[in-house]
Amino acid sequence: MSMRNLENFLKNLNNSIELKGSFRFDEPMGAHTTFKVGGPADLWIRPDPAEFPEFCPLLLKNASAEGLSVFILGGGANIVVSDAGIRGIVLDLGAWTGMDRVGESGLSFRSGTSLDAAANAAADAGLTGLEFLAGMPGSIGGGVWMNARCYETSMSDVLTETEILDETFRRVWVKAKTEDFGYKKSPFQNRRVLILSARFLLAKDEPARIRHKMEEHRRDREAKGHYRFPSAGSAFKNNRDFGKPTGKIIDELGLRGRSRGGAAIAPWHGNLLINTGGASAEDIRALVEEVTEEVYRRRGIILEPEILFINSFGKLVCRMSLSNQFV
Ligand SMILES: Cc1cc2nc3c(=O)[nH]c(=O)nc-3n(C[C@H](O)[C@H](O)[C@H](O)COP(=O)(O)OP(=O)(O)OC[C@H]3O[C@@H](n4cnc5c(N)ncnc54)[C@H](O)[C@@H]3O)c2cc1C
Repeated sequence: MSMRNLENFLKNLNNSIELKGSFRFDEPMGAHTTFKVGGPADLWIRPDPAEFPEFCPLLLKNASAEGLSVFILGGGANIVVSDAGIRGIVLDLGAWTGMDRVGESGLSFRSGTSLDAAANAAADAGLTGLEFLAGMPGSIGGGVWMNARCYETSMSDVLTETEILDETFRRVWVKAKTEDFGYKKSPFQNRRVLILSARFLLAKDEPARIRHKMEEHRRDREAKGHYRFPSAGSAFKNNRDFGKPTGKIIDELGLRGRSRGGAAIAPWHGNLLINTGGASAEDIRALVEEVTEEVYRRRGIILEPEILFINSFGKLVCRMSLSNQFV
């Protein structure tokens, strides 16, 4: 769709609901991802929370009617957006934040709330269960979508219900069934839905004890060099069948420090792929491919990338293999 058509699309939307949030044409996605790479999105929209519940269904409905693709952006902490950028619309949930108490020991967060802010809010409320999220970049929506995991806890361990805008643009709550989730897998990965909010069942505890645990996690991440360079966290998934952590396998093959353009395997951690400055999305893709091929050739192990490659139409480029073109 041409820029003029996108302008008309936005104008028509504004006739129904006046957009009070932010929007920009040709917005560089590198400004919205923790890897700091990615070309421009044709149209980037961050709705204001006041208009969000009305605006989003209308936006998605109209875009679907016009065959326009919409990519949903959380914290941009697990994605590599193609150098060509994203055609169509990027719907940024960054302003859709906030929390509600649910009964004695439940909390509900809007999906744009940062994972770290959610952990802090739970600690303030004297509720334990979200400490594992302290210091993890990203949002509640992205965390649920990815079923983010660390320190032996996955989102699905504490998630009870998720409010979504379903494929027919209705707001519905869906119960979180254990069997629908797996290691870094959620049922939402097979659907085209917008996660609006998520409820968690926690337990009462001393705020000081909760905060102590959170600080330990934050210190551990610092010590592992998570924040030294732009990245999207672990590049590859772990797999019990490998018999050891993926990072260890990469270390043993001497691949630490291996680089392609501005992308490199961190010299201090085999499973951390970093942007050392000026990396392109293509550098990152090529390095992931190179490591995958080398690990397969020398160890017979098939690595699966954890970071998601988003092509120019806002679609995931095949998560299981990198043989697809990434444009
Ligand atoms: C330094 C660092 C450390 C990290 N450590 C960990 C770790 O320990 N464990 C771990 O699991 N991850 C880790 N990550 C990765 C990242 O933090 C998580 O995957 C996080 O859950 C991503 O959330 P996000 O909001 O940034 O998602 P995004 O990257 O914005 O999006 C990821 C996917 O979710 C979809 N999505 C996002 N929000 C919504 C929504 N509201 N509705 C529907 N779909 C949505 C997007 O379309 C996309 O497909 C790390 C990343 C960094 C940079």
